[in-house]
Amino acid sequence: MNKPKMATEKGVPSNSRVLMLLSQLERMNGEAMLRDVETARQVTAKILHLIQTQEKSGKEVMSKGSSGMEVILASLENSRDVQTTLNIMYILSELLTIGRGRRVGVFVSKGGTGVLFQILVSASNELPPSEELMLQLHSLLAKVGPKDRKFGVKARLSGALNVTVNVMKQNLHNTKLLLPCLQVLRVYSTNSVNAISLGKNGVVELMFKIVGPYSKKNTSLFKVALDALGALLKSKTNARRVVDSGHVPALLALYLDWHRNDTRHRCMLIRKGLLVCLRNITNIKLGRKAFLEADGMRILYNSSTECLPVRTLDPLVNTSSLIMRKCFPKNRLPLPTIKSAFHFQLPHVPPGGPVAQLYSQPPGVDDVVDESDDNEEPEAETDTDNEEDKDQCNLNDDIETDINKLHPKRTIGCPFEELKVYQKFFSELSEDFQDYSFELSKSASTTSSSTYLYSSSSARFSRPVVVPTAQTPSPKQIPDSQDVCNSVKEHQTLPSPSPTSSQTPLDLDAIHLRKDKDKKEDANIPTPDGHAAPPSFCRSPSQDHMIEQELSHPLECVSLEDKENQSAEAVSERVRNEGSPVNNLRHIQSPLLLGGFPVRRVGGGGSNVGSDCGSEGAEDEGGEAAVLEVPDTAQLLPLHDPDLYVEMVKGTQSVPQYAEVAYPDYFGHVAPMFKEPLLERIYGVQRSKIFQDIERLIHPNDILDKVVYDIDHPSPVIEENGESLKFNSQFESGNLRKAVQVRKYEYDLVLNADINSNHYHQWFYFEVSGMRVGVTYRFNIINCEKSNSQFNYGMQALMYSVQEAISGRPRWVRTGTDICYYKNHFARSSIATGGQKGKSYYTLTFSINFSHKDDVCYFAYHYPYTYSTLKMHLSKLEAMRTPQIYLRQDVLCETLGGNTCPLLTITAMPESKSSDHICQFRNRPVIFLSARVHPGETNASWVMKGTLEFLMGTSPLAVSLREAYIFKIVPMLNPDGVINGNHRCSLSGEDLNRQWQNPNPELHPTIYHTKSLLQYLAYIQRAPLVFCDYHGHSRKKNVFMYGCSVKETVWQSNISATSSDLQEDLGYRTLPKILSQIAPAFSMASSSFVVERSKESTARVVVWREIGVKRSYTMESTLCGCDQGKYKGLQIGTRELEEMGAQFCVALLRLKRLTGLRNHQHLLDLESDIIGTHSKPVSSCTTTYVLEEDEPSFLEAIDYSAESNDDDDAEPESDLCGEVQESLDQLSDSESNHRD
Ligand SMILES: [Zn+2]
Repeated sequence: MNKPKMATEKGVPSNSRVLMLLSQLERMNGEAMLRDVETARQVTAKILHLIQTQEKSGKEVMSKGSSGMEVILASLENSRDVQTTLNIMYILSELLTIGRGRRVGVFVSKGGTGVLFQILVSASNELPPSEELMLQLHSLLAKVGPKDRKFGVKARLSGALNVTVNVMKQNLHNTKLLLPCLQVLRVYSTNSVNAISLGKNGVVELMFKIVGPYSKKNTSLFKVALDALGALLKSKTNARRVVDSGHVPALLALYLDWHRNDTRHRCMLIRKGLLVCLRNITNIKLGRKAFLEADGMRILYNSSTECLPVRTLDPLVNTSSLIMRKCFPKNRLPLPTIKSAFHFQLPHVPPGGPVAQLYSQPPGVDDVVDESDDNEEPEAETDTDNEEDKDQCNLNDDIETDINKLHPKRTIGCPFEELKVYQKFFSELSEDFQDYSFELSKSASTTSSSTYLYSSSSARFSRPVVVPTAQTPSPKQIPDSQDVCNSVKEHQTLPSPSPTSSQTPLDLDAIHLRKDKDKKEDANIPTPDGHAAPPSFCRSPSQDHMIEQELSHPLECVSLEDKENQSAEAVSERVRNEGSPVNNLRHIQSPLLLGGFPVRRVGGGGSNVGSDCGSEGAEDEGGEAAVLEVPDTAQLLPLHDPDLYVEMVKGTQSVPQYAEVAYPDYFGHVAPMFKEPLLERIYGVQRSKIFQDIERLIHPNDILDKVVYDIDHPSPVIEENGESLKFNSQFESGNLRKAVQVRKYEYDLVLNADINSNHYHQWFYFEVSGMRVGVTYRFNIINCEKSNSQFNYGMQALMYSVQEAISGRPRWVRTGTDICYYKNHFARSSIATGGQKGKSYYTLTFSINFSHKDDVCYFAYHYPYTYSTLKMHLSKLEAMRTPQIYLRQDVLCETLGGNTCPLLTITAMPESKSSDHICQFRNRPVIFLSARVHPGETNASWVMKGTLEFLMGTSPLAVSLREAYIFKIVPMLNPDGVINGNHRCSLSGEDLNRQWQNPNPELHPTIYHTKSLLQYLAYIQRAPLVFCDYHGHSRKKNVFMYGCSVKETVWQSNISATSSDLQEDLGYRTLPKILSQIAPAFSMASSSFVVERSKESTARVVVWREIGVKRSYTMESTLCGCDQGKYKGLQIGTRELEEMGAQFCVALLRLKRLTGLRNHQHLLDLESDIIGTHSKPVSSCTTTYVLEEDEPSFLEAIDYSAESNDDDDAEPESDLCGEVQESLDQLSDSESNHRD
């Protein structure tokens, strides 16, 4: 150490005695100190006295600019006299006790820790070592240790670890000395390498000699010893050591002893310390085994139950619960195989693909569980101080860093000759309308192809194919028919305007969708005072007020009877299989069957029977049984028609050949007018659910384990004794594989995997009947896979009550209490986790009180939207067509399952057949939209419905929009997945949104042909202005977008890039920016424009890179709700989703104006007004606008964390936040954050 100089001259009072003494000490350093021991003692004693008696002395020594600490440390280093050394340590002790944080920091930064270790080691060589010196040294180290990040490493390198251990071993009963040693040991042990080394030296055993049964003495000693032990046991080697020495039963006995005797809860920290030790030991398999063998489950369960009433003991309950969950013996899912219950034979199975892998296992292999448990890796005996660096790495792992890949390549893989066949889907680009009569016709050249859209070329089923035709719209379907007529006249009398004049700037004031301003006008949900506010789209306020009244009017009776269709073999077959529910007394027959099964009846009691011959059964009822009261929703749901729906279902091909129709899809859904706030989570709900789960093990006799629904063994005999609920999901989009009654009012539900796969469980849609009123049912969906869910953050499942529907309230409502989502005790086979072992499934649990007896209720993950619903909506949209609308519906292709994939073209008819008008018509930019590639993301379909309905509307905005663009829309990219109740995949068992780079025409037809359409457009130089694929997001709130930006990707990844890489047209930000201003649910802050490697085969990235579309997006809508904007605190509903789809259209209109103005520098100011931010042109590129406030911060909060090892549940830092911490843990052990 360099010799410091006392700074007495400058800035310090010269009359300061303490400083003068320090100067004297400084001058003595070295030789003099050794020579003149007496003076050294005197000077240090005087300094000590001053510091002890005058507060200002300490301040003077520690003041900024003073080198007092350097002098003290140098003297300490040089001193060879024990008394002088002690004096200096007393001085330090005094100094560091006050204002600890900063002073200790100064001490550490001046190298004080090292000096102390050095003295410790040399003092240990004296025989016997001075006890007082050891005491002071350890006391000081205990103060310094927690503030020195390198404390553990310094201790190990200086050889101090063993000194401390030896002092402890020799002074086991010297409490005064033992305590500071333990405090130091506690800090040593937090370093993982130290922990292993200390363990080898017998320190773990030493701790067990110190801690003991309940006693009022030495509690602080016990506490520190347990802390140290807990830290040591984080090392798996040490944990194993404890298990091998048989200490697990001892620890449990100790815990129980303290639990029983510490009646006034004064020693909670000791009890917690014991639990932490157990928790760390049970991180290893052997530890869990020892815990179970020592009856740990029962001990902790009973003690926790006793702790429950005392809220301050929550940390004990939470830690106990954590241990019990870990040790709960892993169960197997009650399934014969985790492969999907239904198999679909693919035209060919690509070798090495997921389906080949799935079915390549030899028969007899049990894929439900692994023999192996968890993989315990050997511990590395090296420092892992760089964990932060590792995190940093993970953070950027997924970002594309290959600059070449980041640059759009725009090379189209196939020759134009091959793409030419797609010309037929773009007849609007060549049509000349010469035969079209603009004065009269309604239907001329845009004859709908919907007639073949809904027919099926597959003749696998004998069901009749019903071909709906677009009907003449009735006045109620086009409420503004008067306006339509007016606008027709207007158009006809216009004197052939030039093509540009039709693009006259829209009056921005007319766009009435500002987020803040128009709260009252466009509130689609009730205002906070509880009164319903009128929605902005589709309906007039007066209509709205009438909604509830309308619905409570006497209900129209509609017969479902279809006399031409009574054979329905499949149906009868099914009924036979299930055993006809002859004695079923329910008023509403479940299920609603297709074709020849008209036994529907509401109210009135009596048995209405699903016999083999339905209509006979009906006649028994006096000829009136074949009726069902269907809520009349025609006015509220212009696109819905129950009869049409049933017809559509008949043409829908499902793998299980469903013959039933779910009531909600049949009746339709009228969004409720009341608010549905995010559910507030009740404190301790997860804990109490977990305790109920643990009780299954503690009280096995209470468990019924009765299978009440099972599609793997479809003939369970369920006696209709009212003791069990009845389940069903044999209808389009249904997904329930098995239901097991666990307790009287509790059911475990198992979801089916996506067809031809063994996982992707998330979406659910099933029917429940046979319920009682006045009891609380608990449902557990036990094979969820995601590590966290919005169900933990306010989201509720959806329920549809048929009794409510026929009482005039046909709607899905957010339902359920005591909702939580947590890791359960069902083991997940490594076959389904991509090789990872020791994983568990997750449980979604919710509780329900049914309001009606004899009801049929449906539960769903999100608002269902079936393929048949889409077909019905498209058919109804056809009816909304006016002479000014160009609407064409094509069949893009047929899916693997034999269903058609619709393609829509929407634009405005040319104003006349003049060449100018035709030219304007053909040259409109193309907007390409798609949705529902992921079947479980039904919200995407509701957004798409909003878009389609808006586009077909009569509002001036819709008219302008159609005149501005040609819309190409594939509203459902994955019909088969939707129909069969998949969550993510198509029938090929693959995620279609990972196939865009190289779609296979046979296996991924919808993607192949959609991509071809885009390639065709690129070839003819008509690449879309905007491409957007609608999705749903299960882990985030709000609606937001993912786009593609080289610059923002480069920023995020820290890769070096040339300046040209960073010059980028910021146009990709414009559309989301507009949306954030006009769409209340949309959040710019959640949007991201980074290109990730894992997304390189998604629609967004491929369309951007290969087709060259700058504005290529994924739009993600929350499944949960919003935490910003007008809908903050509310769950999202179909009304808000449809509004989002409509606002997307409005935003496109604004975008049109902005892009139309692109080359006019003088209009930039206008643009900035429109966007609402200050913008400035970048000098190098006149078409680039920098929206300053949009510049992304360097590290946006994007979570790229990979799923971590489940066993590494982090320890709650504070004693008070067990549950909170646990939910944070769940958050962190997550899979990659966003999937599109
Ligand atoms: Zn998606």
